[in-house]
Amino acid sequence: MADSTAALSIRGVTKEFATPEGGVVRALDDVSLEIDEGSFTVLLGPSGCGKTTLLRSIAGLETPDAGEIRLRGERIDDEPVWKRRVNTVFQSYALFPHMTVAQNIAFGLEMDRVPKAEIAKAVESSLAMVRLEGLGGRRPSQLSGGQQQRVALARALAKKPEVLLLDEPLSALDLKLRRGMQMELKRLQRETSITFVLVTHDQEEAMAMADTVAVFDSGRIAQVGEPRDVYLRPRTRFVADFIGEANVLPATFLSDRADVDALGVLEADLLSGTEGLTSGQPGFVAMRPENILWSRDEQGQARVVDVTFVGGDLHIDVLVGEHPCAIRTSSHVAEPPRVGEALRLEFPAGSVRWVTD
Ligand code: ADP
Ligand code: MG
Repeated sequence: MADSTAALSIRGVTKEFATPEGGVVRALDDVSLEIDEGSFTVLLGPSGCGKTTLLRSIAGLETPDAGEIRLRGERIDDEPVWKRRVNTVFQSYALFPHMTVAQNIAFGLEMDRVPKAEIAKAVESSLAMVRLEGLGGRRPSQLSGGQQQRVALARALAKKPEVLLLDEPLSALDLKLRRGMQMELKRLQRETSITFVLVTHDQEEAMAMADTVAVFDSGRIAQVGEPRDVYLRPRTRFVADFIGEANVLPATFLSDRADVDALGVLEADLLSGTEGLTSGQPGFVAMRPENILWSRDEQGQARVVDVTFVGGDLHIDVLVGEHPCAIRTSSHVAEPPRVGEALRLEFPAGSVRWVTD
């Protein structure tokens, strides 16, 4: 319950929007989340699942219909945007084109009536933080996209917010720049110890940066945890499939084993996540492509439909009954399977994860 160390505490937040067609979208459905002080928390989910709406609610740009939001224990729901000690970096950098870099960074501090000498210092140090020393006199149009993104960051950091909100801040950058900026953001978060809350739809980006990842599914939080934990122990088929790749098959739990559609009965030692299940309960099992062992067997449950070499990896696509299944193995196998062959599939202990719908 109440966690006094949380930088942000979100409880039961719900937000609906009227659609132009006269309907209603529930963008946030009873969302609760504790965000630790000094953490790098990533809100991850596909487009339209409510990430931006939550970020805007924290910033004060949306008013939730229900629930509460606390910053270090104090309710901020009723505070105007400018009073909240949070700052936001948007995907569009939203820099003023007619101002220099230094003026862009100084602007918010001038609005807050910070003394001039202090502003000059804050501009210098925040430019150094994002490694743009000496470029304070340029205009945004004289900078690359990546540099403009750094200016937007410097501007947000100069105000020393308690929480920095970042909404898909890297999505306008090309892949190579994005990787570099991911590491830069991690470094900035560590050096400043400011709580970062970053939104992305890119699961690799989330895994690369997050201390804690909160996976969103249609306006709800499906799972929260360390990236590795969420990858290894997904709780729903959505999470299993969204983080990394997963083969998901319908199954029935039978006292301690799982009867998997078209695959057969899997023994208890192969399974994980079955604690608390009752016999006869329907659900799904999820298997990572790299965790499937295969051998040729005419009586095997799988039929090969495609075989692809991708560098050191061999991708084998099979059908288990009518369910497509992906297998990843090393391309150094002596005799790769051929299309049409039957394979027997086996699984290492604990690698078959029980998940719910
Ligand atoms: P995400 O950031 O995860 O892509 P959003 O929070 O932007 O998702 O949107 C969640 C849902 O709410 C979507 O269905 C979106 O169309 C809807 N939505 C967001 N803002 C508005 C708005 N101002 N008016 C109507 N619908 C909105
Ligand atoms: Mg969004």
